[in-house]
Amino acid sequence: MSVETSGLQKGTIILSPHADDAALSIGGILCKRVLEEPVTLVTIFGRSNYRRDSSFQSDWKMVTETRRHEDLAFADSVKINLEYLEFPEASLRFGPPFDEIFSPRIDTKDNFPTDLLAVIKRIIDNTAPKSIFAPLGIGRHRDHLIVSRLSYELATLGIPPVVYYEDLPYAAYVSENEILQHVSCVRSALTPVYVPINHELSSKLTNLRSYKSQIGEFESGIVEYYASHWRSGHFYERVWASIPLAGTDLQPFLNDEYKDWHSGKNSRLDSLK
Ligand SMILES: [Zn+2]
Repeated sequence: MSVETSGLQKGTIILSPHADDAALSIGGILCKRVLEEPVTLVTIFGRSNYRRDSSFQSDWKMVTETRRHEDLAFADSVKINLEYLEFPEASLRFGPPFDEIFSPRIDTKDNFPTDLLAVIKRIIDNTAPKSIFAPLGIGRHRDHLIVSRLSYELATLGIPPVVYYEDLPYAAYVSENEILQHVSCVRSALTPVYVPINHELSSKLTNLRSYKSQIGEFESGIVEYYASHWRSGHFYERVWASIPLAGTDLQPFLNDEYKDWHSGKNSRLDSLK
């Protein structure tokens, strides 16, 4: 009997393409401490040459060290584990003029970097999580699309189930229609779940300051705007679940303490209008 069928799965794995993606996209959910613990953040393309103030650098080692420390500070702050991998990000793989880091197509078939699948599979096997969080790849950054596609390879027959998060800040730059189209390309029959983060928003924004090399006031403002754009005066993060949830929303992925939270009303956009 495998771990998957023996009911011994525990905890949550968050797959993050770069050092700041989980904090930007689901930083509120992480502050809320609702995911089943232990929660392990796996930053995949940790080798980086990008800084927001000076763009692409020739010395990736210094940038990578900075980004690793920023990621560690975030993980400490929300009390989760961090696995910082050093697969080279798209700008290092493709090089100047860097236009190639965004794909013209959602269903791009970029090869996985050598060993990526094996390394991630080993982490999943060792931790046997109950669920995996992965990006949708909105914005079509090649690294985000690769990590989104990884979820297919990892979650055979839906075990463990995958919850997809909306990639911020990119999701704020496209229309709702484009997001819905993108979601249907990633996987059929995904269910939207709106997680209220009214009480967590300010901590989320504070934590984003850990990523000084990547995130400034502008990006924080976009994150705040996006959280508030569904319903005036209320803040949400939206994730998409890959299994039918029968009105229980994120319940399969929550820790015991938090299982009473659900009203069943927040799984549909209509309920917010
Ligand atoms: Zn990213």
